[in-house]
Amino acid sequence: MTPGQQSLVEQARARFGERVAVTDAADVEPWLTDWRGRWHGRSAAIIQPSSTEEVATIVALASELHVPLVPQGGNSSMVGGSTPPPDGSALILSLRRMNQVRSIDRGSMRAVAEAGVILQSLHEAALAQGMRFPLTLGARGSATVGGLISTNAGGTQVLRFGPMRALVDGIEAVLPDGTIHHGLTGLKKDNRGYSLDQLLVGAEGTLGIVAAARLKLVPAIHARAVAWLGLASPQKALDTLRALEAGTDRIEGFEILPQESLQAALDHIPGTRAPLDSGHLWHVLVEATADCADAEPPAEQLARLLAPLVERGLVENATISATEAQAEAFWRIRDSLSEAERVAFGPATQHDISVAVENMPLFLAEAAAEVERAFPGTSASGFGHLGDGNIHFHVRAGTRGGPDWLEQEGYAVQRLVDDLVTAAGGSISAEHGIGVMKKEELERLQPDRVRHLRAIKAALDPNAIMNPGKLV
Ligand SMILES: Cc1cc2nc3c(=O)[nH]c(=O)nc-3n(C[C@H](O)[C@H](O)[C@H](O)COP(=O)(O)OP(=O)(O)OC[C@H]3O[C@@H](n4cnc5c(N)ncnc54)[C@H](O)[C@@H]3O)c2cc1C
Repeated sequence: MTPGQQSLVEQARARFGERVAVTDAADVEPWLTDWRGRWHGRSAAIIQPSSTEEVATIVALASELHVPLVPQGGNSSMVGGSTPPPDGSALILSLRRMNQVRSIDRGSMRAVAEAGVILQSLHEAALAQGMRFPLTLGARGSATVGGLISTNAGGTQVLRFGPMRALVDGIEAVLPDGTIHHGLTGLKKDNRGYSLDQLLVGAEGTLGIVAAARLKLVPAIHARAVAWLGLASPQKALDTLRALEAGTDRIEGFEILPQESLQAALDHIPGTRAPLDSGHLWHVLVEATADCADAEPPAEQLARLLAPLVERGLVENATISATEAQAEAFWRIRDSLSEAERVAFGPATQHDISVAVENMPLFLAEAAAEVERAFPGTSASGFGHLGDGNIHFHVRAGTRGGPDWLEQEGYAVQRLVDDLVTAAGGSISAEHGIGVMKKEELERLQPDRVRHLRAIKAALDPNAIMNPGKLV
């Protein structure tokens, strides 16, 4: 421990008790590595405050002592965002003890939740009041409100409700000098200059600590239906989405996957079954919901809207879940694709990218062809949130490489994909953030953007204590 870290730990313990700092190496260890197991850091302690006031005191101490802090929620970051640096220079600031849902208000349809509330718990708390928080993702059992805000998380319901940014209605935060920003006022209109709340969304812990947030809720789902479609191409999938959207505003999920990804799931994920009998080059999972009893049942609505599309040949075949178990089985295929592909195809580079929605079908075809031409023997494809223009684009080593392929060629592939995305006016990080993983690439591709981000960072965090080495 450096003298500054030692002093911070001692002062924090003197004010808030032993429990506020975890210094036993065995207890710190599980929080030093990212979820993918790709980045390993060092940290002498985890500081775990239990209130906003405690966070403010600790951040003020860190600022005074020049001790960098790495904010951490569930540590489910896909880009190494919550892993401390390897030189041991920073302490982890865990928000996991701040895990209270402070209020749920049915009138305003808002929840106020502390940063450490786990997404699954928020879902349950909202449901108990007949409402739901309309954002979900695979890591819902560990991702926290603070982490979701700080990464501007997406997931599978962005199509209808937007990403985290659209669901945040105010933030209580501790800024890098230890002052508290009180943003839970519930003001519908507030034009006092820059929105500090929105600045903190997607800031990846580099501008301050999210302590609590006021979040938008929607009515609980009364009924839902999930359809599985077989189609010839991503363009036909997008045309299908537009046709469905012309008939309803209740499409929540629209996920695309190629046949080989489906096959990987069928071959390697126990209990999965092909939703359709016939083979198709591409597949789409569509979810529609109803939030009240007098709305047209979603299964009937999907059947009514899909029938003419099948007749026209836009959709080759379709089936609609008859039971909740079947709906879950369709989602299970979608949710297991990353794991299935890892087993089926071995090493692959993974790119969380976005382009304008209408350009995604062409981009997918052209980028795959370009990558396969540049790296003969690889195969490239993607699955994911077509309706958001966000695809998880994977380049598989194929005949080209063994287990060390990623080390040998991964970066060259990454650069090519990032160049293609940038040339298409897209983003090299659609929903996972920049973290450490994409920091160099962002700077290589968009130095001006990084310069502006750094100017904001320097203004708010002149001592550079907030999440060093991430994003900028
Ligand atoms: C299986 C799986 C599936 C996933 N699916 C999706 C998906 O569909 N869509 C998607 O967008 N993401 C997805 N993710 C990524 C991840 O779940 C999200 O990035 C999530 O928002 C991270 O939340 P967390 O609490 O784990 O944050 P952490 O990983 O702990 O931290 C993430 C970032 O936020 C910062 N941070 C955390 N808490 C705070 C705070 N209170 N104040 C300030 N900064 C803070 C950290 O410093 C770090 O930069 C997935 C991850 C996994 C493992």
